[in-house]
Amino acid sequence: MKGELKYEGKGKQLYASDKADELIQLFKDDATAFDGVKHDVIAGKGKLNCAISSFIFEKLHASGVKTHYVKRESSNEMRVKSLDMMPVEVVVRNVAAGSICKRLGLEEGLKLAHPLTELFYKSDELHDPMINVEHCELFGWATRAEIDNMCAIAMKVNEVLSAMFADVGIQLVDYKLEFGKAGGEILLGDEITPDGCRLWDIATGRKLDKDVFRSDLGGLSEVYHEVANRLGISNLTEKP
Ligand code: UDP
Repeated sequence: MKGELKYEGKGKQLYASDKADELIQLFKDDATAFDGVKHDVIAGKGKLNCAISSFIFEKLHASGVKTHYVKRESSNEMRVKSLDMMPVEVVVRNVAAGSICKRLGLEEGLKLAHPLTELFYKSDELHDPMINVEHCELFGWATRAEIDNMCAIAMKVNEVLSAMFADVGIQLVDYKLEFGKAGGEILLGDEITPDGCRLWDIATGRKLDKDVFRSDLGGLSEVYHEVANRLGISNLTEKP
């Protein structure tokens, strides 16, 4: 049961639930890129992302990662713990792609010798600038201990998800995580979907993520279905 709309972002809505400490996170069918400059509505995307995100949060839970996930509430809704969100995004990279290539002049596809963690300040206005732990401490966004904790969780997530995707022939190139606090504890929040990850087919290098939409490489729905099929959860989604 959903209550009042508490927050609306580009890809999701958060509603009050019948419990004070839980929210309903609804995945919208909207696809956006370049800070919302490119926008489309893709029927069924919300259900695909909800199925993929729920499956991944369950997998992480089984591996001991503490997250906000409570359960899949409906085909396009997840029930989550209400979090006080940290204004810092954590990106983990296994292979160079996207902004790091532009920033450092790297070739897309360069394998990194070990996973790299980067921090970004959450601000649409400022286009999420890259920051470090000193900025976090100085401006009161997070303590060093909190950032260490978030990065340690992000590395555990990398182990679990890299192995999970590799098992189905997909390379986890990079992804973005968001965290929040509940009862003084830091939990992994937000969503984990091909909207916020780069996923490449190991055999062919084909992109199976939102870059397909960003760069007009084909149907986003088809590739998200491909990810769901490989993860064995196509029963939780609808045909394109
Ligand atoms: N990412 C995201 N939201 C953001 C920024 C990045 O989900 O606001 C994801 C993005 O999809 C990719 C990873 O984080 O999987 C690294 O993104 P990058 O820094 O390369 O930025 P991009 O070039 O994708 O904007």
